[in-house]
Amino acid sequence: MEIQFRQPSVLQICDHVYLLNDNDESTGYVVIGNKCAAVIDTMIGLVDVKAEVQKLTDLPVICINTHGHIDHIGGNWSFEQAYINPADLSLAEESLSTPQMKEAIQKLGIRFPDFLPIDDEQIFDLGGLELQAFYLPGHTAGEIVLLDREDRILFTGDGVIEQIWMQLPESLPLKMQIKSMQHIQHLRTEYDMILTGHSRGLEAAELFDELLAAAIDLENGNTANDIAYQWFGGICKAHPYGREPRRIVYQG
Ligand SMILES: [Zn+2]
Repeated sequence: MEIQFRQPSVLQICDHVYLLNDNDESTGYVVIGNKCAAVIDTMIGLVDVKAEVQKLTDLPVICINTHGHIDHIGGNWSFEQAYINPADLSLAEESLSTPQMKEAIQKLGIRFPDFLPIDDEQIFDLGGLELQAFYLPGHTAGEIVLLDREDRILFTGDGVIEQIWMQLPESLPLKMQIKSMQHIQHLRTEYDMILTGHSRGLEAAELFDELLAAAIDLENGNTANDIAYQWFGGICKAHPYGREPRRIVYQG
């Protein structure tokens, strides 16, 4: 099977932030300071992310992963180094070792970067704006979120998203997700909007509150309204919550 690279659609979110949408499958972000830029997540691997960033800025670029799933680290190959929480290092290596990935890597002649560790509360200084990482173990053991205080945006990967996406073998118990969210709840006054690993645009920060309330509700055993849900791993139960849709327009 021939592998075709894809062109992402690019949406400017605000002065410093661009959203890269790969075929509505996953999303990456470019955050541009005045001395360097950061890519947050690189989608499934069929986009030359670094080349896309170079259309937006001449500044040096760092690559930061929110977690180790393939639809977030797949495009890391266009970078020399990429940051990841060490708790997801083995998951990232596993994601890159499937027969399909091995075949793609060989056919495309690409190589994956060295992974650099992210510390909890680590600050990435982009010049004029910072991204601060916070651990959020739950969806995976090494999930992180990144806070851009300048633009009042929280980048959440799959850690805070429109579903309680916790049914994977590598996901931690639901009570860990609740504990992790409560641990960063004090940040809630510092952002108004959320960009997830699958957003099409800005989402209201209330997503955080609604997900946390729903996770607590589920942990308390309130499953009467849960519904069967088909996903690529089969059928599981979904716990409906919140409002639809939450997307909002950035006002500058
Ligand atoms: Zn994920």
